[in-house]
Amino acid sequence: MIVRFWGVRGSIPVPGPTTNRYGGNTSCVSVQPEGGPLIIIDAGTGIRRLGKEMMKGEFGHGRGTAHLLISHTHWDHIQGLPFFAPFYVAGNSFFIYARQRDDTHLRAVFNSQTMDPYFPVTFDALKADIAFRELVEGTRFEIDGVKIGCTRLNHPWIAMAYRLDCDGGSVVYVTDTAPFTDILLEHEFIKVAPKPGDPLSEEDREKLSAMYDGVVGLCKDADVVIYDTQFTQDEYRQRPHWGHSTPDNALEVARAANVKKLVLFHHDPARTDDAQDAITREYQARARELGMSTEVLSAYEQMTIQIGAGGAAL
Ligand SMILES: [Zn+2]
Ligand SMILES: [Zn+2]
Repeated sequence: MIVRFWGVRGSIPVPGPTTNRYGGNTSCVSVQPEGGPLIIIDAGTGIRRLGKEMMKGEFGHGRGTAHLLISHTHWDHIQGLPFFAPFYVAGNSFFIYARQRDDTHLRAVFNSQTMDPYFPVTFDALKADIAFRELVEGTRFEIDGVKIGCTRLNHPWIAMAYRLDCDGGSVVYVTDTAPFTDILLEHEFIKVAPKPGDPLSEEDREKLSAMYDGVVGLCKDADVVIYDTQFTQDEYRQRPHWGHSTPDNALEVARAANVKKLVLFHHDPARTDDAQDAITREYQARARELGMSTEVLSAYEQMTIQIGAGGAAL
């Protein structure tokens, strides 16, 4: 399979001269298995360019089928959808997978994104056939021979991590998440950051520990893990309640799970290309110091990674 990055940024698109090399678009990754259907993970603004590429093939003729795995529906993971050209072609078929909410069906969540007065075309008016599959954490399923697993993350209103196994290889997508140590993030926004050393309740500690085990289990022996590393350690200390990790947290998971390649992802909007270069070098050195064989790199737009056999060129 071939993994390709179309958007690597967290929170909001930041085009401009200081972000050109890594790219300013928000989260979107495609996975093209050998002979299998295209799988897209998240639909930030990066999906617009992916959609244009897709239109050059069968999606331009209304004969395409693709699957979208959504980590969660915060803006930076869905804001490209209204500009995803294959949605506007009759005959195309899409399946959207995301975590089941207690209160609202997924279709209503996506529908509300383009309601008047926010956008002229409502979700219901799209020409492609779009079906929704609601997931509960831990669900395992298969898409035409691609095995999918998922587990929940530590993020306000909860995000899902996904693992894809096919063509003799594996890729895991872990964003957005805080580390599993200082604060439990669920169905409320915590306005005040906890202070270092603030005690956790036994219940919260157990939930976080189970979440960490779930993430390490999902990443176990993976070829590639793409991980939310939005914050530096200083930034995390100021905003532990925002639901993002540092490269240190990602390295810890990669080490525990024996990951071959760790891709730093969901870069902070304020992170310049030069600053990201420095982070990459710093954590490559850190992995060596720790005696890890894990390769560390930072995601940039249009980066491709071949995993296992096969995969088309998209
Ligand atoms: Zn995000
Ligand atoms: Zn988020």
